[in-house]
Amino acid sequence: MSDFYQLLGVDRGATQDEIKKAYRKIARELHPDVNPDPEVQNKFKEVTAAYDALSDPQKRQQYDMGSRGGFGGGFGGGGFSDIMDAFFGGGGNRGPRPRMRQGQDALIRVEVDLYEAAFGTERDITLESAVACEKCQATGCADNSQPEMCLICKGRGETQQVTRSILGQVMTSRPCNTCNGFGSVIPNPCRECAGDGRVRARQTINIKIPAGVETGNRIQMSGRGEVGPGGGPAGDLYVEIVERAHEYLVREGDNLHIQIGISMAHAALGTHVQVEGIDGTLDVDIKAGTQSGSTIVLKGKGVTHLRSTSRGDLIVHVDVHTPVKLNREQEELLQKFADARGEKDGEIHLSNRDGGVFGKLRGAFHR
Ligand SMILES: [Zn+2]
Ligand SMILES: [Zn+2]
Repeated sequence: MSDFYQLLGVDRGATQDEIKKAYRKIARELHPDVNPDPEVQNKFKEVTAAYDALSDPQKRQQYDMGSRGGFGGGFGGGGFSDIMDAFFGGGGNRGPRPRMRQGQDALIRVEVDLYEAAFGTERDITLESAVACEKCQATGCADNSQPEMCLICKGRGETQQVTRSILGQVMTSRPCNTCNGFGSVIPNPCRECAGDGRVRARQTINIKIPAGVETGNRIQMSGRGEVGPGGGPAGDLYVEIVERAHEYLVREGDNLHIQIGISMAHAALGTHVQVEGIDGTLDVDIKAGTQSGSTIVLKGKGVTHLRSTSRGDLIVHVDVHTPVKLNREQEELLQKFADARGEKDGEIHLSNRDGGVFGKLRGAFHR
């Protein structure tokens, strides 16, 4: 005989609430509906007996004082099923379970590229799923036959068992093994679906992917999941979006970023360039005196906002490239340029983090 506190995994000072919580947790794991294994069920009875004793302050006191006698018949008046009702809902008589039940939801992932995510697209997806058996019209019965009442459980779907324990007689019920709890058996099952009422089949589904989706978005398609046992209503199909990264356009929410490099001379003089966005070629005006790291915003050239027609922006990040490997002529030109600008060797400019110049310093660190 195990210690009641140990059985529930609580210490001797546990509150009623802690005892209740501990029992619920164990009972969920060991409940006959979850695990009909006889050994597990014996454990379940023990734990239930422990809970019955410890949840009643008077019985608990007796138990604590070491008088384990007097517990016989502790379940009087069907205490066991009262406990079952309290925790699992439903009356003691749960009755047969229906053959027709709700089908399961299904999840598939669909890869899209940036253009498809930005503007929306359509896909025909072929997937294997449970569909209603046509041969038997989802009844599971061959040749227009009918299910018949289970003779073992007399149609109740469960069988009862009486066991004697230290607490007296304990009545437990479990789903009937013969009919699997349905209360009826199919004497002449459909050869196509073996009585399940559904078969697995490949089906092609057209999926409309709206503009603006991104990785992780799920599109719910009601009733496109698996058909339930016995031809029960189908679950839902969820289509999860996986967006492939673009070669050079980087998405951030509904904005897109592109990085371009221009020469020092063109940054100083200003120029026109063209970039490839998701709308095709776009003209970008680079103003004279453009600094490295500056950005140009092309309004409305980003990704469509989900469930809207407006769009994010395309942000062009400009790098100014300093020329390398100058030949003699270029070197002389640049020197002349510096002289003409009055730029002295060793002159530096102090900038703050935002790139603004806040002072000129000459020669302090030089010669
Ligand atoms: Zn069938
Ligand atoms: Zn039965």
